[in-house]
Amino acid sequence: MSVVLSLKNIKKNYGSLKALDDISFDVPKGSVFGILGPNGSGKTTMLGIVMDILKATSGNFYWNGEQGSSSEMRKQIGTLLETPNFYHYLSAEKNLKIAAAIKGRSYDEIPVVLKKVNLLERKDSKFSTYSLGMKQRLAIASTLLGSPDILVFDEPTNGLDPAGIAEIRELMKDLNRQGKTIIMASHILDEVEKVCTHVAIIQKGVLKTVGTVQEVLNAAPTDNKVVTLEIEVSADNIAGLEEVLQQLPGILSVTNTGSSLIIESAETLSSSSINKYCFEKGIVLSQLALKKKTLEKRFLEITGDKSDR
Ligand code: ADP
Ligand code: MG
Repeated sequence: MSVVLSLKNIKKNYGSLKALDDISFDVPKGSVFGILGPNGSGKTTMLGIVMDILKATSGNFYWNGEQGSSSEMRKQIGTLLETPNFYHYLSAEKNLKIAAAIKGRSYDEIPVVLKKVNLLERKDSKFSTYSLGMKQRLAIASTLLGSPDILVFDEPTNGLDPAGIAEIRELMKDLNRQGKTIIMASHILDEVEKVCTHVAIIQKGVLKTVGTVQEVLNAAPTDNKVVTLEIEVSADNIAGLEEVLQQLPGILSVTNTGSSLIIESAETLSSSSINKYCFEKGIVLSQLALKKKTLEKRFLEITGDKSDR
């Protein structure tokens, strides 16, 4: 696995507040890496540090194995950390000419990046006539000038309407398919689950977990209860089924909803083995549905609550 960004023991204090408390993780090349946490958990601070806008109190970070962030390196990273200022009365194309001039990029790139964000046909429209989603797509087009391999976005769908959010999510997946590594901060679980391949969950400056979205969903919680599967089952004889299941090794809990049983089980238990076991005990299941553990549930398990600081 090739690593694009590596954080090693990053700390950032604001007075007595530990905005980031000893954060270490690696961002694999080609990933869409989500930094997920409630407001105030330190996401923007983290992105500010790796983009050299803020200085860490201690710790190091490495872009492509190189310590710190040289101006050469930063040129290879497209960033969208805050809403950029576009001129409302100018067209998309003219706005990008200004951005290209500031970044020292050729105007030839403008149609290319406009095409990538699907705004080429609207290049002559005034910025003020754009929808929220189009405005944000133009902001992303601007980050694509210079064709960076790495993109860093802070809450890229903030303030957008549902249509705009969908546009930006699709665009991020598209850019990733084109080979770009995307690092994105978000407080929206659903977004990370839908868009990201990897996630680091932070809360109050502390890294709670990191891995592929799949790994984080399935990982063992910090207590000794290794819940990896949730299965809903039912049978005509619910009481009998409950009794039988209580005795099945690997079952962690059985909850009766009235019409079905929700069982939490360890990874070693497959739905077919549960089916077989019940059948051998004389109970025919009328329902057996694997319930996917959602990232939201996992997030609440990991952080204990969803309160901000
Ligand atoms: P997030 O982006 O996850 O919402 P931030 O990185 O913006 O979180 O903030 C993390 C914590 O650091 C918050 O408690 C915030 O109030 C605090 N903080 C951020 N910037 C400053 C600053 N310049 N001075 C003091 N505290 C700050
Ligand atoms: Mg923020």
